[in-house]
This record gives sequence, structure tokens and C-alpha cells, in this order.
Amino acid sequence: MSSVMVTGVGELVTLDPAHGHGLGVVTDAAVVLEDSVVAWTGPAAGAPAADEAVDVGGRAVIPGFVDSHSHLVFAGDRAAEFAARMAGTPYDGGGIATTVAATRGASDEQLEANLLRLLGEMRRQGTTTVEVKSGYGLTVADEARALALARRLTPETTFLGAHVVPPEYADDPAGYVDLVTGPMLEACAPHARWIDVFCERGAFDADQARAILEAGSAAGLGGRLHANQLGPGPGVRLACELGLTAVDHCTYLDDADVEALASSGTVATLLPGVEFSTRSPYPDARGLIDAGVRVALASDCNPGSCFTSSMPLCVALGVREMRMTPDEALTAATLGGAAALRRDDVGHLRPGSRGGLVVLEAPSYLHLAYRPGVPLVSQVL
Ligand SMILES: [Zn+2]
Repeated sequence: MSSVMVTGVGELVTLDPAHGHGLGVVTDAAVVLEDSVVAWTGPAAGAPAADEAVDVGGRAVIPGFVDSHSHLVFAGDRAAEFAARMAGTPYDGGGIATTVAATRGASDEQLEANLLRLLGEMRRQGTTTVEVKSGYGLTVADEARALALARRLTPETTFLGAHVVPPEYADDPAGYVDLVTGPMLEACAPHARWIDVFCERGAFDADQARAILEAGSAAGLGGRLHANQLGPGPGVRLACELGLTAVDHCTYLDDADVEALASSGTVATLLPGVEFSTRSPYPDARGLIDAGVRVALASDCNPGSCFTSSMPLCVALGVREMRMTPDEALTAATLGGAAALRRDDVGHLRPGSRGGLVVLEAPSYLHLAYRPGVPLVSQVL
């Protein structure tokens, strides 16, 4: 066993109740890691001895971000669609078919290279835990391939065969649901921890989503759902009724949806990069938090509706556009993401944490929202 002491931490965000409520901030702090797992945190003056020391020179240190929603296994890009959208074409999810065609035509090597490039980009911005979905293959072989590639790089893989109905099933959506709940699920379940459905007008309705989530649950997968992104709908209430771990987007909610979220404990994952990139109204994070709903922030990094991999940007948008406090936004991007993945070993810096430390090129975590667009991550330990 080898131990490393990280010293010279001007401000340490632990999210450890032992260091006070909220962010559990310790100033003039140190962290001791044993075999890369947090063993001790607290004021530097009281730190136990360690084999080696790393001095971060007064910088702030936060837990690695937990990005609980991304779509990184794909080929091609949709920059032209983005430009058209900014010129006034509304987003309706129809461009997903473009990415499906490009992804089916790509080699394993091309898909893996793109995935590695995006994961590297995320890590350089402080993300140390990433959920990755399939959903651009939409055949048994292509979905299983996407998940097998992702599974080598993260344990948090999600089977999203129910992303859209692919063109070859346009006249037989029920046949596609049978495929997703049958042979496709069977091929994908060994490579996945989660199952997800895009429950939205133009994609899958509540009955189809329920059937797919129940089949996934029977195959041992945890459930999550894309819902209420493009308009009001039954998805959020379905997620709460089924006791899913998380329901993502939550842009168009009524009072009953908010009540269901507050009483079910299902995490509402907000993806403000999507609203930014589709020029849409943001979810009401303030109202959700005030109602007692547990919220997470995630990137939704994907080639269509939101091609950012930056959790610091999501934190800044949460604060500026969704009226979260800086503390709430950072909590949602770390501990909130961990809750959305049912992980208790990441998203904080408590003894036992395996989520890594992010050293900021700043004296305080407040700079994440205060200095938007600036590369503030100096090191990921
Ligand atoms: Zn998504």
C-alpha cells in the first residue's frame, strides 16, 4: 500500500457531512490517498503521515465530476444541423437518423477512437465518472457493439435501443419494441448496467416505455428515462411510478410531475447544455430544488442536441440560467450525478472515495460559474 498526501489545498470541497453541511468546505486542507482511494481529509495541520506529498500551491480542490448522461458511441457530426438550428430550424430529434447511418457504417476502430477522444476531453475538464449510452446502432449487432466498446472504458453503460424507431421499422414500431425487448436486450444486457428509453412524442410512448423498462428490469438492468424534454408528457410520472433511479431532461413539468419527483426520490437529471444548444427554455431547477427534488447536472454530450462534454459549462449554466446557487450546482454535478447512478463511492471526497480529485486553477470552486468558458481544471489526481 502506498500513500500520497495532497497538500497546499487552499479550499477543499469534500461534500462530507463530517466537515459541515452543504459542500463541507475545509480551508488550508490536505487529503491523504491510499492506493488512489481517499483515506483522510481535513485541515493540513492535523494530517497523518504519508509516503509522498504533492503540493497544489493554494489551489482549490473539488471531487471529480460525475457525468451521468452521455451518448459517446457514434460516428460523424451534425455541425450543419446545428447551424441550421441557429438560423431558425427547430430541434425535433429527427437528426438522430443521420448519426445512426454514420455509426452503422463506421468500423469498431473508428467508434473506439472517437469514444476515447471524447472521454479524454471530459477528463481534462474534470469528469472522472461517465455514463455512456448506446442508441445510434439500433440493430442487435450495432447496439451490442456500442455497449461492448463502452464497457471496456466505463462500468456505467446504458442500453438505449429505444432511442428512436429506426427507418426500417417506420411502418412497424410495435415490431421494433419486440426486437428491443427480445433479441436486442438479450445481446446487450451482458454489456450494460442500465436501460433507458426516449419517451417523447415522435419516439416512444408511455406504454412502450413501460414495456421496455420492465423487460430491462427482468434482465437485471436498472432503469432510467429521457422524458419531458420537448414538451409535457407522461414520462416523468412513469419514471417515478416505476421507482427508476433517474429521469433525465425534465424541462416541461407540471405540479403533479414535481410532486411525483419529490415523493418518489427519483433523481431529476437536468441537462442545460441541451437547452443552450437548441435555444430552448431551461428546466426550472430552482422550483425543483425548493420542492425537495434531488437534482443532478449532466452534459448529455451527443452529436445532435448538445455537443459539449464540459461539466464546468453545465455548472455555469445551472447557476446563470437555472437560478441554482453555485453550491447547489456543484453538488448536482458531483453528488447528484453519483445518486443518479446509485454510486456511493464517487462524487465526494470522503474516506473511501474512488472518484478522484480535481485541482482547479483557481482559489475557489466559485470560479467554475464566475469564470465561464475558462479552462480551470489544472490537474486530475
Ligand atoms: Zn440523452
